[in-house]
Amino acid sequence: MVINKNVSLKDYTSYKTGGNALYFADCISSDDVYYALKFACDNNLSYEVIGGGSNLLVSDDGYNGLIVCTKNLNRYIINTGKNILKCGAGIVLADLVLYACNHSLSGMEAMAGIPGSTGGACKMNAGAFNQEIKDTLLTVTFMNKDGSITTLENQEVGFGYRKSEALKDKIVLSAEFLYKNDKTSEELLNIRKEILEKRKEKQPLHKPSCGSVFKRPEGNYAGTLIEKCGLKGYSIGGAVVSTKHANFILNENNATSSDIYNLIQHVIKEVKSQTGITLEPEVRLIGFNN
Ligand SMILES: Cc1cc2nc3c(=O)[nH]c(=O)nc-3n(C[C@H](O)[C@H](O)[C@H](O)COP(=O)(O)OP(=O)(O)OC[C@H]3O[C@@H](n4cnc5c(N)ncnc54)[C@H](O)[C@@H]3O)c2cc1C
Repeated sequence: MVINKNVSLKDYTSYKTGGNALYFADCISSDDVYYALKFACDNNLSYEVIGGGSNLLVSDDGYNGLIVCTKNLNRYIINTGKNILKCGAGIVLADLVLYACNHSLSGMEAMAGIPGSTGGACKMNAGAFNQEIKDTLLTVTFMNKDGSITTLENQEVGFGYRKSEALKDKIVLSAEFLYKNDKTSEELLNIRKEILEKRKEKQPLHKPSCGSVFKRPEGNYAGTLIEKCGLKGYSIGGAVVSTKHANFILNENNATSSDIYNLIQHVIKEVKSQTGITLEPEVRLIGFNN
């Protein structure tokens, strides 16, 4: 595997912003991941893992280490025929959802429309409309920093709302999902279609974003709080709080990552001062010094 130098991360994030990675490894196989980790270790480099880049904000200064990209990693789906799909980390989540629906496997259909990779979805415990990755995940296999490989069962992962404790600093290689077969493929495809329509109706999908910027605070909704604080449409540089869905910050007009970052900080500050609630970002930061 070739490790490239000075790769623009703009092309690897849904925000389309950010600087260069000093080193960049596009991993296709688990061996590639092993090699990338060894390269980082041998050269005393820090590293960050990225998948589809749909939940990332990369600093305009880029990342002064190695980016281990898993977007193309282990691109396979194996249907065991026992309501279990085995799937590589680089499989696009939306493709896995569609595959499951087409094969009358239920449990993921409400996650239609969540962008990004299956590995990233495991790490984030992605979810929507009352379904989360943890509801179908049977096992997850990952590489540790030292190159060893571990498989954990669902209960061992420490899944919570948008978190997976045991996957901290790990690189997801593959996962197995257990589905129900209580619905026909026609029913599942219809649910999927309805979900995609709801998303189109409620979310500003016309401009680059990372989806919901903030986690849902307990007993509340980030979007509702942001809207109540009069921040819909508020902008810094090319970044704007969406007027359609206040928990989306859009790259409206050639925003820089600094514009987006500063707007995130502004929203946190305003919501705190007006409501007393501290919003916690769901978006992951790379290359910022915090
Ligand atoms: C329009 C839009 C709508 C969205 N809607 C939703 C939604 O409804 N629900 C929801 O939960 N999210 C949503 N998101 C956010 C995002 O799509 C999810 O968090 C997604 O699961 C991230 O996957 P990714 O592959 O893009 O991960 P990335 O953005 O690349 O990375 C996210 C995190 O996962 C880690 N990671 C990525 N790949 C791996 C791997 N192989 N091993 C270990 N760690 C890894 C990264 O280090 C980072 O911490 C939305 C985003 C957009 C742009």
